[in-house]
Amino acid sequence: MSHGWVDDAVAAQAPWMDQLLAELVEAPTLLGREEPGQAIMARAFADCGLEPADVPMDAGAIRADPHHSPFSWSVAGKRNVVATWAADPAGPPGRSLILNGHVDVVPPSSVALWTAPPFTARREGDWLYGRGGGDMKAGLVAMTGTVRALRAQGVRLRGDVHLQSVVEEECTGNGTLQCLLAGAHADAAILTEPHHDHFTVAQVGVLWFHVDVRGVPAHAARASSLRHSALDAAQRVLAELSELEAELNAERGEHEYYKNVDHPINLNPGIVAGGDWTSTVPAECTLSCRLALYPGQAPADLRRRVEAAVARAAAADPFLAEHPPSVRYDGFSCEGSIVAEDEPVIVALADAYAAVHGMPPALRATTATTDARHFVRHGIPAICFGPEAEAIHGIDERVSLPSMREVARVLARFILSWCGESNDGPPATAAHRGESSHVQR
Ligand SMILES: [Zn+2]
Repeated sequence: MSHGWVDDAVAAQAPWMDQLLAELVEAPTLLGREEPGQAIMARAFADCGLEPADVPMDAGAIRADPHHSPFSWSVAGKRNVVATWAADPAGPPGRSLILNGHVDVVPPSSVALWTAPPFTARREGDWLYGRGGGDMKAGLVAMTGTVRALRAQGVRLRGDVHLQSVVEEECTGNGTLQCLLAGAHADAAILTEPHHDHFTVAQVGVLWFHVDVRGVPAHAARASSLRHSALDAAQRVLAELSELEAELNAERGEHEYYKNVDHPINLNPGIVAGGDWTSTVPAECTLSCRLALYPGQAPADLRRRVEAAVARAAAADPFLAEHPPSVRYDGFSCEGSIVAEDEPVIVALADAYAAVHGMPPALRATTATTDARHFVRHGIPAICFGPEAEAIHGIDERVSLPSMREVARVLARFILSWCGESNDGPPATAAHRGESSHVQR
């Protein structure tokens, strides 16, 4: 079926999409400050003629789920925002779909290194610069713009399309978990993460852990026998953790999707914190680390190996043996996931992709985690596909605006074939659609 009218429908939404993206990027939706972004997304859903609904974060319900990630901060007052484009009740039922994106972004790393302030949406040619533009506000815009484009043409579907704008994807995944706990369900899910020339079908799990290392504070001028630097001790712990990282990478041959990946398991000591005075030997040092695990591996298993590595570092050092470092868990503690390559959602989305790009996409494994794992665990095949971005989590993050529209063109074709158009009502010819371009409010 030719869907040329779809491209016109998406093109008509381009100014709306660009504007929404700029607004979102200028909202610095860091952990704990997601609300201004969610307010924008609620308005965007309403602007598609849908009724936005809140899925509030409920700490008790999250912690009661065995697959939550631990968190030490308050989630009170935080919400995920969802909206449903309901199927035409008159037509025969079709397949339903969840489109999911996260509104939270990571910190800018070093503001001084950015060409322009990270939370100003700076446009240069086809690129939009700003923290979170690629990861993944352009994805949120692409999925919402797709729905707005189809609805503006009077399309009626046979299956529900659920839009989800979630919090806390970058630290726990508990926002998407909360949506599932609230009853979200569909025949498939697409997460519009910035994986633009491929579909991500396999992903690693991630464990965040924090090692608190003690020292003996003293004046920096004292002899080394009178002091013990927590920073020196932390370096010994880090050396053991690096050994563990090497061990884990050596095991990649046992893992179908990762055996040919160069270094699938990365240890990142993302925050090293310790000491309180330049002339005092540090009494404490905390290593906050991110470490990946293979699909099929349990986070509890990796926790045991981390604790064993820390114990080895302690045993090799007389001071540490007496004052063993402790390991805390706060943030990601999640398994990986895999979706079978012959899942109908992959076949249908690949067809839509090929219709736009003239060739099928690659299917790939990622060495990062995404919220897709929650859907997969709930029996909902989930894949990542979205706009083209560069320097995510880096300096001068940017996203390609044409790619955002291309993703919408793919998603629009996919939705029409996956959910199916309702035959009930006026014939939806291309010419007919061209005339009715007003979105209901
Ligand atoms: Zn992301």
